[in-house]
Amino acid sequence: MNGRIVEPSSGQFKDVFNPATGEVTGSVALASVVEVEQAVQEARAAFPGWSETAALKRARVLFKFKELLDRHHNELAMLITREHGKVFTDAHGEVVRGIEVVELPAGIPNLLKTDFTDQIGTGIDNWNLRQPLGVVAGITPFNFPVMVPMWMFPVALACGNTFVLKPSERDPSASLRLAELLKEAGLPDGVFNVVNGDKVAVDALIEHPDVAALSFVGSTPIAEYIHTEASRRGKRVQALGGAKNHLVVMPDADLDQAVDALIGAAYGSAGERCMAISVAVAVGSTADALIEKLVPRVKSLVIKNGENLDAEMGPLVTAEHKAKVAGYIASGELEGAKLIVDGRDHLVCSEPGYFLGGTLFDGVHTSMKIYKEEIFGPVLGVIRVPDFATAVKLTNAHEFANGVSLYTTDGGVARAFARQIKVGMVGVNVPIPVPMAWHSFGGWKRSLFGDHHAYGEEGVRFYTRYKSVMQRWPDSIVKGAEFTMPVAK
Ligand code: NAD
Repeated sequence: MNGRIVEPSSGQFKDVFNPATGEVTGSVALASVVEVEQAVQEARAAFPGWSETAALKRARVLFKFKELLDRHHNELAMLITREHGKVFTDAHGEVVRGIEVVELPAGIPNLLKTDFTDQIGTGIDNWNLRQPLGVVAGITPFNFPVMVPMWMFPVALACGNTFVLKPSERDPSASLRLAELLKEAGLPDGVFNVVNGDKVAVDALIEHPDVAALSFVGSTPIAEYIHTEASRRGKRVQALGGAKNHLVVMPDADLDQAVDALIGAAYGSAGERCMAISVAVAVGSTADALIEKLVPRVKSLVIKNGENLDAEMGPLVTAEHKAKVAGYIASGELEGAKLIVDGRDHLVCSEPGYFLGGTLFDGVHTSMKIYKEEIFGPVLGVIRVPDFATAVKLTNAHEFANGVSLYTTDGGVARAFARQIKVGMVGVNVPIPVPMAWHSFGGWKRSLFGDHHAYGEEGVRFYTRYKSVMQRWPDSIVKGAEFTMPVAK
């Protein structure tokens, strides 16, 4: 806060674990309303100076920050692996995707350029301004401790806002390191503040009258709660929630490519990605061949501590989360899905740490809990449908609509899919279609509450207020009041 570490007045701490070993590696302070108040006041005090700093100068701080991120890339990736558990190579990729969202707002002077109409009426010009909102807050999930905060604060800061970040209490170290790097890059103290904590800190941010906007990424019930409560208090809110992403395999698809895609997208990061694929929709005659190819691949996943460079999958984030995912596997079995590979039987489960093997179900139905709910673990279900129209209808009927993918070699089918599917992010022969930094990220339906998607131009719109200015000068004003609606003359 304001460039220094502050101890929590609550005196409350929570253990932080290395999921690969189960060891306690640290403890995170849980802020009370006192620290939230302090962080918001620091950010509020820093706002006039930062928002009046020329956009080009703000951008230069981000340029320097990007350089520091490049230099500390491996260190940040290792921090992620040690607290989240994802494999180092994957964590390295996460940092890349975060850095890209710094590269975009480093061009903020251009992104803030607006429209100008000369001589809209005689002697009158009209133009627009995009002005910062003030103090804005971000609340982020455990599964991308570097990338998701960087979906938010680089854009917000570049636009001239000051920021309070409340990261996940499960892997808090990366956010503090990012704060140190921002300071080293020359960001004035108070412009970016991190408050560690839980619901108490989140509620204090929602209720604080000086917080103008909230960005949230996490599970759907909390996203909905934050959207409702913060909107009710007049704040601008974007709240990104959970997912159940389908990958549709058409009979004409290259099956080996589809299998590679499913293995990477279902089991990468142990399925703890909001864009992970958890449902394979096998169209027509593809299902048997698809499963035959999937089974040996799921069984042979290299699952170990993600610090090993040959690891393909690491542990789940906590013991509780592992138990929750195992519970879903049991429920799928009970509801009659065919359990083809049971991750609970994997040898790695007997090791310390929160490991679970990859799991594969066939014969999944839309009425089952393992289909309806987000599992957020290494569990893939295959659902069989007769044709393309049924695949589209089924996907569109799900309450979540974050990402979706189609594997086909038919351009006409791909085009129809992209147009008919009611999902925010669509991949055609791309399993995880996370938009690049200059596009924007967001789902539909219960995967996003609010009007704006994250980062890209949508991010700039979210973090700025639009203003129209119409101007003329006295020597061009004809004397006398006008009582009719102003029209161009
Ligand atoms: P989570 O909802 O448990 O926590 C997210 C944040 O909310 C954390 O900072 C946490 O401290 C806070 N929080 C938790 N409980 C709260 C409560 N009762 N009141 C107020 N705040 C609370 O999510 P998670 O387990 O950290 O992350 C996984 C979830 O995030 C999954 O559902 C995943 O799909 C989702 N996610 C979505 C996206 C997306 O872009 N749509 C991206 C990443 C993760």
